[in-house]
Amino acid sequence: MPLSTMKRVLLKLSGEVLMGDQQFGIDPAFVMELAKEVKAAKETGLELCLVIGGGNIFRGMAGAAQGMDRAQADYMGMLATVMNALAMQSALEQLGVQTRVQSAVQMDQVCEPVIRRRAERHLEKGRIVIFAAGVGAPYFTTDSGAALRAAEMNCDALLKGTSVDGVYDSDPKKNADAKRYDTVTYGKVLADNLKVMDASAVALCRDNNIPIVVFSIREKGNLARVIAGEGTQTIVQN
Ligand code: UDP
Repeated sequence: MPLSTMKRVLLKLSGEVLMGDQQFGIDPAFVMELAKEVKAAKETGLELCLVIGGGNIFRGMAGAAQGMDRAQADYMGMLATVMNALAMQSALEQLGVQTRVQSAVQMDQVCEPVIRRRAERHLEKGRIVIFAAGVGAPYFTTDSGAALRAAEMNCDALLKGTSVDGVYDSDPKKNADAKRYDTVTYGKVLADNLKVMDASAVALCRDNNIPIVVFSIREKGNLARVIAGEGTQTIVQN
């Protein structure tokens, strides 16, 4: 399906894009810029689900590498994604965009729990649903959370907005000759261990035939271009 004819998409943003030019945490001014991009995407008539990572605040693997219990560190990472979701909700609502946050770790005072049929209703009413806390279990990432929500919400594509403009055959920061793919199969991504999303997320998208569109969210206007079927990106599909 061409991107321009899609009705419902899930946008996954890495936590690190919320840092702006900082080294850590949330830059509210940059979150506002991202929110404007998301608002513009919504205004094309798309139904939009959002998943935001937590790497700008805490990653379970990093905690475990420093001696923490891995599962405990992963729960901290999940809480970080809730903070990011709330920051994005706040920015979007300041722009007049209606949103709901649903967390896979229940937090009644702060947001809704994940309830699929309720999320459906929110989308029907034109709200953006921000899914927080990934799949709600340690040893997973928000990429897997994004793939899971994209599948259960019947999204036409998973858009992965990150700091690079697609999938390369080697690290473009280390290899000046690195080549970017316009399209690449799930099988090649998994076989060559290409840096797109973690393997379980890629496999879930493959099994449910959900294209993954990798693009740079740092370039202004790029999300709108990608949705219009233009711009620079890599599409992972069969
Ligand atoms: N996390 C988890 N289970 C999930 C989603 C996230 O344990 O289903 C934890 C994990 O520790 C991860 C952290 O939350 O490192 C932040 O998420 P992620 O690394 O995916 O964020 P991103 O790289 O997208 O910013």
